[in-house]
Amino acid sequence: MDLRQWGADLADLVLGRACLVCQAPGPSLCTACMASLRARGGPWRAELGTLDPRGCLPLWFALPYRGVGARLVLAYKEHGHLALSEPLGLLLADAIAAALEPRARAVCLLPVPSTPRSARGFDALDEIVRAAGCELARRGMAVSVARVLQFPRGHRSLKSLDRRARWSTIQGTMRLDLRIARSLPTGMNVVVDDVVTTGATTMEMVRLLRAADVEVAGIAAVAHQAHPGLPRSAAGQPGYVGADPRTRSVHVPTIDS
Ligand SMILES: [Zn+2]
Repeated sequence: MDLRQWGADLADLVLGRACLVCQAPGPSLCTACMASLRARGGPWRAELGTLDPRGCLPLWFALPYRGVGARLVLAYKEHGHLALSEPLGLLLADAIAAALEPRARAVCLLPVPSTPRSARGFDALDEIVRAAGCELARRGMAVSVARVLQFPRGHRSLKSLDRRARWSTIQGTMRLDLRIARSLPTGMNVVVDDVVTTGATTMEMVRLLRAADVEVAGIAAVAHQAHPGLPRSAAGQPGYVGADPRTRSVHVPTIDS
């Protein structure tokens, strides 16, 4: 356990924190609720639109970004529940594993670059990716992380923009490190993010990687915020058009407690 994790656990204790799902005293996500979240049929798959003529890539995600999913991510990123990086990393690891071939024994994680540091003072995605990498390594995978793209200084966040504006604004803003890109393996690169909304940033990243002849196996995220502009599933749920690879049946997330 590192110092940050130790500090976060101590804060849980001192501040009398409780599970954000069931309110039981203790960590921000108790063991039982974590097991329950993982038992609800995910990770799920959504198809992200793209301007790249080579087409869509599936997004695998562990939680819908609403209800409990949104509560957990916001608690971690905005409200100081830093110990959530571990369970959110575990959920991201599940999504990453779903993006890979079932027998894959290695993975290279390509995190979405962070915008210039916010007032939070820490890189929220970094901590989750580190936890996900540790979890995948525990499962016997060889894990590497490559920061192949960056936003230049002065890049503004896309958060306040609508879908159309995000797609037009993101184009051409990221810089690819060709030296790193050329060293990436084939067939096991997964783009990772904490929350994917329109997919504008992740698909621009995929476009740039493909232009540099880097093969991307998929995109994985902790949570996905369905957007009315996305295709609809058979159940009419916006955004969730995919199938669990184990059953090939359509799943519609119902985590809304
Ligand atoms: Zn709980």
